[in-house]
Amino acid sequence: MSGRKASISFEYFPPKTDAGSEKLLTATTPALRALEPEFFSVTYGAGGSTRDTTHGIVSALREQGLTVAPHLSFGGDDAATIGALLDDYKAMGVERLVCLRGDLPSGMGAMRPVYANELVQFVRERTGDHFHIEVAAYPEIHPQAESYSSDIAFLKGKFDAGADRAITQYFYNVESYFYFLDRCSAIGIDKPIIAGVMPIVNFANLQRFSRNCGAEIPRWICQRAEELTSAEDLHKFGVDVVTQLCQTLLESGAPGIHFYTMNQVDPTREIFTNLGL
Ligand code: FAD
Repeated sequence: MSGRKASISFEYFPPKTDAGSEKLLTATTPALRALEPEFFSVTYGAGGSTRDTTHGIVSALREQGLTVAPHLSFGGDDAATIGALLDDYKAMGVERLVCLRGDLPSGMGAMRPVYANELVQFVRERTGDHFHIEVAAYPEIHPQAESYSSDIAFLKGKFDAGADRAITQYFYNVESYFYFLDRCSAIGIDKPIIAGVMPIVNFANLQRFSRNCGAEIPRWICQRAEELTSAEDLHKFGVDVVTQLCQTLLESGAPGIHFYTMNQVDPTREIFTNLGL
C-alpha cells in the first residue's frame, strides 16, 4: 500500500466491445494499478443498460485481487433486481459501492426516480454495514437542483441515510470545491468529500459533456484550447492544467482525488508523475 495521505481512486466505464474490455483488463489496469490507488470504480448505466458489462468488469477486476466499487442506481429496476445484484457483489467480495440516482434513460422520464438517499437507505437496510458507500456531490451544483442550499441539504440526506463519503462531479474552478466544503461543513456534514478530477482527453467531448452535467470549463481554458491545433500541444496543456488543479487540491487539504480516467492510462499517469505521488 502507498504511504500517501490523500485517498486516490480511478474510475472506469464498462467498454462496449470485447476488445475494449480486454485492453482495459490486460493493459490499462496493470499500468494504473502500479500507481497504487485505494480502489477502482466502475460506472453503471441507470436503467440497467450496462448491468452485465459493469458486472463483468467488476468481476474481472476482483479476480485480479483489486478493490472495486461498482456504481449502482435503481433506474427503472425493482427492489428484487437491485437486491440480487447486491447479494451477488457481496458474494464476490465487493465491499464498496458508489450509490447514485443516475439519469433515467429516455422513454422512462415519466417514472419517479429513486433518489440516491433512498438507494443508500435500501443498501443499509438490506446489507447493514457490509458496504462502504460513496455518493455523488456537486460543487458547482447539480443541474436539476432547485437551489444551492437544497442541493447540499440533499447531500446531507445521503449521509444521514448511511453514506460514508462523497465524490464530487469534476470541476476546474477550484474555489467552487473549497467553498462547497465550507457550506457542507456549516450544515453539519463531517464526512470526507473527495474531489473528482477529469483529465482532459478530448476537448470537444469534454465541452459537450460539461454542458449536460453542469460542470463549467473556465473561459481561459476554452480560449487557450481553441488555439492549440496540434493534438500533442493540447494534450500537454490539458496535463498542465489538471496537474495544477490537483496540486492546489492536495496542498489545500482535499482528502483525496478520484480520477475520471476515461479508461486511459495517460494523462492520469503523467499527472501522477508531475505531482510526485
Ligand atoms: P441525487 O443525489 O439523488 O440528486 C439528484 C437531484 O435531485 C439533485 O438535483 C438533488 O438536488 C435532487 N434531490 C436529491 N435527493 C432528493 C430527494 N430525496 N427528493 C427530491 N430531490 C432530491 N451517472 C450514471 O448514469 N452512471 C454512473 O455510474 C455515474 N457515476 C457518477 C459518479 C459520480 C462520482 C458523480 C458525481 C456522478 C455520477 N453519475 C453517474 C452522474 C449522476 O448519475 C447524475 O448526476 C444524476 O443526475 C444524479 O445522480 P445523484 O446520485 O447525484 O442524484
